Amino acid sequence: MIGDVQRYMQGTTQGNMQGNVQMTLSGVIDSHCHLDFKHFNKDREAVMENARKAGVVRMINSGVDYSTNSKSLELAKNYDFISATLGLSPNSIDGKNDPEIKMILDQIESNASQAVGIGEAGLDYYHTKDAPSRERQAEIFKKVIAIAESLNLPLVIHSRDAEQPALDMVKHLDKVVFHCYSGTLPTMKEAQDRGYYISLATNVCRSGHHQILARNVSLDHLLVETDSPFLSPRKGRNEPANVLDSVRLIARIKGLEPQEVAAQTATNTKRIYNIR
Ligand SMILES: [Zn+2]
Repeated sequence: MIGDVQRYMQGTTQGNMQGNVQMTLSGVIDSHCHLDFKHFNKDREAVMENARKAGVVRMINSGVDYSTNSKSLELAKNYDFISATLGLSPNSIDGKNDPEIKMILDQIESNASQAVGIGEAGLDYYHTKDAPSRERQAEIFKKVIAIAESLNLPLVIHSRDAEQPALDMVKHLDKVVFHCYSGTLPTMKEAQDRGYYISLATNVCRSGHHQILARNVSLDHLLVETDSPFLSPRKGRNEPANVLDSVRLIARIKGLEPQEVAAQTATNTKRIYNIR
């Protein structure tokens, strides 16, 4: 009885936007976040603790350039509930010359044994409009793809307004995750049919388009993520605990129990990243 009361109390204190009682969830995985970013410098430990209290058992921290790759590796070394992926984001290449790019690619390759995946990397046509810059993005993305392929590690794709071109570049790979997928339904279906994973971020909580994606994505190919500190479903900075908002909403959209969505997305995440 006391256990039930405690659970009820926990449920009511945890983000309850509808005013109903919400049961706590367990075994949730935030499949993509950036806990190393400076937004967390003042309270990183507290943010991780908050997530763990909410039922998040693992957070996958993704690097986007040299220093964030280093910090991701360090976090994974220091916390057994954090895994790292090493990447080179299309939004991190501006202003970097070829030797600097090569240094990051070498870093990814030589530290990959301590990572669960390669990325984020990809194409961002939203932020990059001119053709030469888009070409350079594609050239660099090709090199990251080659690393993922040669090491047989999953590739984490960042694609914005460029989901189909990104998909077209990776079709020879077996293990692919579309992080923060925001593209069309047909491209999503094609990715899914190839056995790739679709990761929906917490912006699903405030985007009709993402809610349509959530309705249509197969639960067997779905991951959930916060992309913290970005894309908060609430006000201000996002943090991994908020992934529960997505799990609850996706469950409602799909007519499932939240715990089922939590468990299946965690199983999918462990499968693609080979986490035991
Ligand atoms: Zn990210």
